[in-house]
Amino acid sequence: MGHATSFLAELTWAEFGEAAAKGTPVLLPVGSTEQHGVHLPLNTDQLLPTEVCRRVTALRQALVAPTICYGYKSQQRAGGGNWYPGTLSLDGGTLTALVKTVLTELGRHGIRQMCLVNGHYENLWFLHEAVDLALRELKWDGVRDARIVLLSYWDFISPETIARIYPDGFAGVELEHAGVMETSMMLAAHPGLVHLERAEDHAPAKFPAYDVYPPHTGLTPKAGSLTSPKRATAEKGEILFGVTAKGVADTLNTEFGKP
Ligand SMILES: [Zn+2]
Repeated sequence: MGHATSFLAELTWAEFGEAAAKGTPVLLPVGSTEQHGVHLPLNTDQLLPTEVCRRVTALRQALVAPTICYGYKSQQRAGGGNWYPGTLSLDGGTLTALVKTVLTELGRHGIRQMCLVNGHYENLWFLHEAVDLALRELKWDGVRDARIVLLSYWDFISPETIARIYPDGFAGVELEHAGVMETSMMLAAHPGLVHLERAEDHAPAKFPAYDVYPPHTGLTPKAGSLTSPKRATAEKGEILFGVTAKGVADTLNTEFGKP
């Protein structure tokens, strides 16, 4: 006996066809394979947007497409840097082409409402480009009613939520890489993959206001996290999943109409 799933790849072709005919929106999580300090796994940016999407489907109807597991090159001031072992990154054009193709494939099979849920900062402009190229190609193919939302899950973390999560002050979202935010969400969703005892309390990274290539690798805190994750808790993670999943679900209602 099967049971209902919101993960697109777990459907049969007939179930997918039915969902497309009903106008079901599809969420596409986009992540990376990237170092996340000494305490989080390389797939952190895959797991977090996927879990946000899963929770969205508890709030309103939608399907979650298979997660894009590779992202654009880790940048020092956002992700520590691309040189860390195990950080497997795509060239920008490759990421753009990959995401564009998945979007046009969804469109070819009748999906008209799509939402990219980004979980890796460096992906963002390549996703804008993928959306633009996908809509253009779909139009050439006669599909004129496709609509694509592009967001990063942290867009919905309001100043009020920040004040709850960081009572002692916030270093800024650019330094959140492998910090309290991501670590708390991993503790809430995948506690078995978190090794908080290996993390050290360290000062927030200090970067100049520009990038230089090749980077001065010594500017990244040795662990790879850009702020200390030590104050992360599963409770904070639950708060963050709550506001982000609601933010995405509300966005779908606004842009695609209530189901
Ligand atoms: Zn990350």
